[in-house]
Order: sequence, then structure tokens, then C-alpha cells
Amino acid sequence: MKKDIRKFTTEELIKEFEKLGEPKFRAKQVHEWLWKKSARSIDEMTSLSKDLRIKLQDQFEILPVSEGVIQKSTDGTVKLGMRLHDQRLIEGVMIPDDDRNTACVSSQVGCSLSCSFCATGFLKRERNLDAGEIYDQVVLLNKYALEHSQKPLTNIVYMGMGEPLLNFDNVMNSIRIITSPDGLNMAQKRITVSTSGIAKGIKRLTDEGMKFNLALSLHAAVDEKRDKIMDINHSNNLETVFDSLRYFYEKTGNKITFEYILFDKFNDSLEDADHLIELYNKVPAFINIIEYNNVEGVDFKKAKSEKRNEFVNYLRNRGVSVAVRRSRGKDIDAACGQLANKNQ
Ligand code: SF4
Repeated sequence: MKKDIRKFTTEELIKEFEKLGEPKFRAKQVHEWLWKKSARSIDEMTSLSKDLRIKLQDQFEILPVSEGVIQKSTDGTVKLGMRLHDQRLIEGVMIPDDDRNTACVSSQVGCSLSCSFCATGFLKRERNLDAGEIYDQVVLLNKYALEHSQKPLTNIVYMGMGEPLLNFDNVMNSIRIITSPDGLNMAQKRITVSTSGIAKGIKRLTDEGMKFNLALSLHAAVDEKRDKIMDINHSNNLETVFDSLRYFYEKTGNKITFEYILFDKFNDSLEDADHLIELYNKVPAFINIIEYNNVEGVDFKKAKSEKRNEFVNYLRNRGVSVAVRRSRGKDIDAACGQLANKNQ
């Protein structure tokens, strides 16, 4: 059986090359082809001799992600369906905004957490994506950023399908490759990992010592309500999660973003806003208020715009740092909580 060449670190690759009787610098060349030049086949590595390429093809393979259905929104957002080597499907989104092009990438096929408002939660979790598969999404979505505005991606958010911290090692490895000077060389501060609140994972990523941003999908500010919409809250309640967020802040000095979707008559009252302020006062944070995108088969509906304005003004008047995030790509089911491989 051939070995997936992208699973090796540079050091491991050097050892593999030693076994083949090839010098160290050849392994480094291959590393560059894989992660800097995003080669999709060994044959593309034209700085290697034909003989060496044949030798490598005997033992190794690359398992790239390929493009599937492309959907373009009237607002410029692109949703890209992608096929994995085992024929499983995922989705990623490129969201253009004034001076930014953001890629929203998936970390798992499906999701095991079944948050009740999220279309991905209806798909069972089939498997984790490996670091190369996450990297490929960035490379493929970058093409659409360039096509849209002649500018490459500026930001990456791990907010697509899956819970990133339940695929910890692959997500961290993908960030290392994407931000490495030997890879895509993006700044760590341009990357945001969004979690539903896996306390142990938050502590672990803090200890990795990386400098990316952390977002918490909060959506309800008291346990009784959060339990109703996010199963994960039963095992990782707000107190536990906020302990880990404080740990993150103390070690990194980075503020955390709270993502809060406003649902009609569920979490949009001024009492809810007061609970949110209580949490905001526990750890330095920004709050993003997100417009809900109705999902077929889900009872939750988006909050009325008057309610949203009242909620946001109430927070602002109390000194809370809050922004309202416009929903993007909803005409193609590409918005937050809508990724479900529907059109593939
Ligand atoms: S919101 Fe995130 S964690 Fe929850 S089901 Fe959807 S993809 Fe999974």
C-alpha cells in the first residue's frame, strides 16, 4: 500500500528519503512542492528527476481534495462543494468583504455535536479531516478570492462543518502548515478557530503557544437555555468553559470573540442581554451578534429586526464591544449554520 506523503513531517520525510538512498535536500524540495507550491501529484514536482518521481510514485501518493459543485451568491460569496479521496463530501465558503477575503473551512465530515439550530448537526460525523485536507480547502478557496477581487485570502476561520477541537491534532497541524514560512506563510493572527466550547481543548490549544484567535459559539448565556440548543453544554457547562477561556486569556492576552445568534423569542430579550453582559464581564471579549438563517426542519427562527436593534443598543449603551454580522451567502445556503452538502 502506498503511503500518504502529506502525513510526514519534514524530519520524517528526510528519514524516508534516507531509506531510499536520497539526500536530505531532496526531501526538502518535496516538502516545498507539497506545502508551498500546493502540488496535487508527484508528477508535478518537475525539479525532481523523472527517475526519482517514478521511485516516489511507487511508494507514496498524494490524496488531494477536488472541487465539486460551485455556488455563487449575489453578494459575491462562493460556496464550494469538495470531494475527498474516499468520495466523502464537505463544503467551504469564500466570503469577500471590503478589504478582506475570508475562507471558512471545515474540520470534519459532518459533526457529532448536533446543535439544534445547525444544518451540519443533522449529518452524522463520518470522520475527521486530515491537515492536508484542511490545507487544500484554503488553496481551493483562494482561487475564488483571486477571481473575485484579484486579491488572495486575508483571513481563515475554522467555522465550517465540524467541531475543530474534536479534531485537535489535524487542526493544529493545518494551522502550522498554513502559517509556516515553508507553507502558505499566512499570519497566525489572521486565523480564527471557533469552538462550541470544549473546555479541555481550549486549555490544550492555549498550551500550544500559537497566536491565532479564538471564538466561542455561545448563543445562550445561561446553562438552562444553552442546554436546550447545544448538547455539548451538558458536559461542558458555562462555568467550565469560562474557566478555560480565562486560562486562554491569561496566557495569550488575546480577547475572545463570543458568537451569539439571535433567535426569535428564545435569547433576544433584555434579560438575555443582561446574562450576556454578566459573561462578558468574566473575560475580555468582543461580541458578534449574528443574524440566524432559517434552516429547514428547525423550529428556531431569526429574531425580528426591531428586537435585534434593541438588544444591540442595550449592550452598546452598557459599554459592551459588540458588532452585528451581516449574514452572507444565504441565497446559496452558505451562511452560518447552513452547510449540509445539500446541492452536491
Ligand atoms: S454549530 Fe458547529 S458544533 Fe454545532 S452542530 Fe453545527 S458544526 Fe457542529
